[in-house]
Amino acid sequence: KLFNELQDLKGNIRVYCRIRPFLPGQSGKQTIVDSIGDNGQLAIANPSKPGKEGLRSFKFNKIYGPTATQAEVFSDIQPFVQSVVDGYNVCIFAYGQTGSGKTYTMTGPNGASEEEWGVNYRAMNYLFKISQNRRSSIQYEVGVQMVEIYNEQPNGLAVPDASMNPVLSASDVLNLINIGFKNRAMSATALNERSSRSHSIVTIHVRGKDLKAGNTLYGNLHLVDLAGSERVDRSEVTGDRLKEAQHINKSLSSLGDVIFALAQKSPHVPYRNSKLTQVLQSSLGGQAKTLMFVQLNPDVTSYSESMSTLKFAERVS
Ligand code: ADP
Ligand code: MG
Repeated sequence: KLFNELQDLKGNIRVYCRIRPFLPGQSGKQTIVDSIGDNGQLAIANPSKPGKEGLRSFKFNKIYGPTATQAEVFSDIQPFVQSVVDGYNVCIFAYGQTGSGKTYTMTGPNGASEEEWGVNYRAMNYLFKISQNRRSSIQYEVGVQMVEIYNEQPNGLAVPDASMNPVLSASDVLNLINIGFKNRAMSATALNERSSRSHSIVTIHVRGKDLKAGNTLYGNLHLVDLAGSERVDRSEVTGDRLKEAQHINKSLSSLGDVIFALAQKSPHVPYRNSKLTQVLQSSLGGQAKTLMFVQLNPDVTSYSESMSTLKFAERVS
């Protein structure tokens, strides 16, 4: 049933919103979330305009409130992941300002327990299991690749030269991701800083060879933890920091343009405007499926950033 639902997608694009909880020690903070309706309706309250005038409403395919679990989120996207085995290309993005929960959704918190695992571990585990258990006449190969795009420069992480690392067990999967992150050879703080200014892409390739029919199906899943979408104050940053900000801005707006063009079924899709959209081109559009997690920090102090995140989402959904 869910799979049929997937076939009906407008341009195969879905936009989910996830609102992270206030963190320990943030009690008493005020939220911008006025209500989360059934049917994906989200009402946001402007803290400086109390009452009805300050309310704005946004529509999503799905909304996850602060108590949603990682397992709940994954169970909804499982059909997308499943379709990779059937030869589809799928892109799952996390978009939002730094601190809004992108990495939590995609990877999980630092030192995550199995319960806290994010989408990428769960997806790999799932694909790996399928590749082991499906009809024996099909032989599956699963490979993983990690790429980071920093200042419009793609770097292979776990795998140099963008070649494929074969995955032979579920624990290989975890090791690969961890190696990928460690290869960046940075302290945890530096890593965090850097990761908020670069796009990180985990790609899982699945090749299924039908031994009887002799044909091969090939699908891949891109899991993308985007750079933080926050606007930097041009009057306050210079040099490297300004350059980073301009690159991020350019690539996120190019991504928005590409998804917008696809959603509109526009004949011209501007893939060439950034490295990010070039790298993902074969998995955006055509038969490919796209899912965007729009991440929100509920704090009133993030109101204007949250609004610009929501406006980005509004345009592509
Ligand atoms: P980002 O990657 O967007 O910068 P993070 O994923 O690092 O944000 O999240 C910021 C902080 O909030 C982290 O400490 C993270 O563990 C926590 N966090 C984010 N989302 C959730 C959630 N759904 N439940 C619990 N903690 C969360
Ligand atoms: Mg992050």
